[in-house]
Amino acid sequence: MSGRLPIVDNLCRNPENHRHHLCELRAAGRDAMVATYEINPTHVCGNCGVRSNTAGALCAPGPLQTDKQ
Ligand SMILES: [Zn+2]
Ligand SMILES: [Zn+2]
Repeated sequence: MSGRLPIVDNLCRNPENHRHHLCELRAAGRDAMVATYEINPTHVCGNCGVRSNTAGALCAPGPLQTDKQ
């Protein structure tokens, strides 16, 4: 595989850090790293829907709505 350009779209609120965002990590196959952010998630990405316990790791972080505790 040759070098792959990072996926950037208009919904990313912090493009400078996009390579650290879960959207990009997941696209890059960094599943183990993504999994660490998915533990006890508090935010959800409005862009790709991935959940995270760190808002800063998402392109468009929003509060995660949970029905159960
Ligand atoms: Zn991003
Ligand atoms: Zn996302």
